[in-house]
Amino acid sequence: MVNGLEVRGAVLTYPGGPTAVDDVSLDVPAGEVLALLGPSGCGKSSLLRAVAGLEPLTAGQVRWDGDDLAAVPVHRRGFGLMFQDGQLFPHRDVAGNIAYGIGGLPRAEREARVAELLRLVGLRDYGERPVTTLSGGEQQRVALARALAPRPRLLLLDEPLSSLDRSLREHLAGELRDIIHATGTTAVYVTHDHDEAFTVASRIAVMARGRVLQADTPERLWRAPASEEVARFLGYGPVVDAVVVDGQVRGPLGAVVDEPGGVGGEVRLALGPRALVPDDDGEPVPVRGWRVRRGERELDVTLPDGQGAVVRVPADGEVPQTARVRVAAEHVAVVSR
Ligand code: ADP
Ligand code: MG
Repeated sequence: MVNGLEVRGAVLTYPGGPTAVDDVSLDVPAGEVLALLGPSGCGKSSLLRAVAGLEPLTAGQVRWDGDDLAAVPVHRRGFGLMFQDGQLFPHRDVAGNIAYGIGGLPRAEREARVAELLRLVGLRDYGERPVTTLSGGEQQRVALARALAPRPRLLLLDEPLSSLDRSLREHLAGELRDIIHATGTTAVYVTHDHDEAFTVASRIAVMARGRVLQADTPERLWRAPASEEVARFLGYGPVVDAVVVDGQVRGPLGAVVDEPGGVGGEVRLALGPRALVPDDDGEPVPVRGWRVRRGERELDVTLPDGQGAVVRVPADGEVPQTARVRVAAEHVAVVSR
């Protein structure tokens, strides 16, 4: 038995519709933050809704501390919910929204809890503000405070930052992680954004077509993606052919990766975003175009197999017609065919 959430063989087929969740099993031990990461339409929200009790499973089980929750309605599961659009109550002020789920507490306790949460989400003096006057980021902080107020045993977040612009999203993802950790909250965090998943989660489950392709710590997932599909979804690419010779994986442009007891034969090498590095002794590749991003020049080059790739170089100097590059072994992952 797992202390925390267990999902076992979960299937969710919508009546007359698709099978959105197709035999998913996952554990989220107490204290862990699991990200469900995958492209739009892969079944993340459906799985989260089934865990919340908003959608009945077609087959399988959702358990907490070993107890099957099939007969336990949403409001009795002790789970907190937060969505992309905070869905705040417009007729209540900020404090009134945060207090929504703790109306049963004595007044003094309730007010102390609201004040504590306002501090926690960085909105100390916002209690009496109408929520309609808040920015998108502030509204999501209030939604988080409201979800945390009753001290849920599990917090379920569905793309909580997706409606915010990029810089705010990156900033708030870090804050969210800190708040979830500071409160020791167990959580499942749905996102299609790999950066967000890596920022927030202690473990990541990569989903596609209703299934979990791989569930692992961020470090292991990045070092050893289970397949080309997982690698590409994490931001690897291109993926090139390679061979295993004498305990080494050898690919184009001098790529050599030690693979003791290597799987043998033909494999694929997934190149990370920084896998190609300029090197005067490297092989020449044609430069097709370029742009400047975050102070670096990104050259679009063509690999020997015809695939496009990016090389980062300092932003000064002439743009060459050919660049000499090599593959840095620490930025590639070996994936099976
Ligand atoms: P994600 O959150 O990963 O984008 P969803 O769980 O929302 O994916 O959707 C998974 C699949 O289930 C999609 O094909 C979607 O169209 C379908 N789907 C989602 N909700 C419903 C619903 N209420 N009724 C029928 N089909 C649905
Ligand atoms: Mg969704």
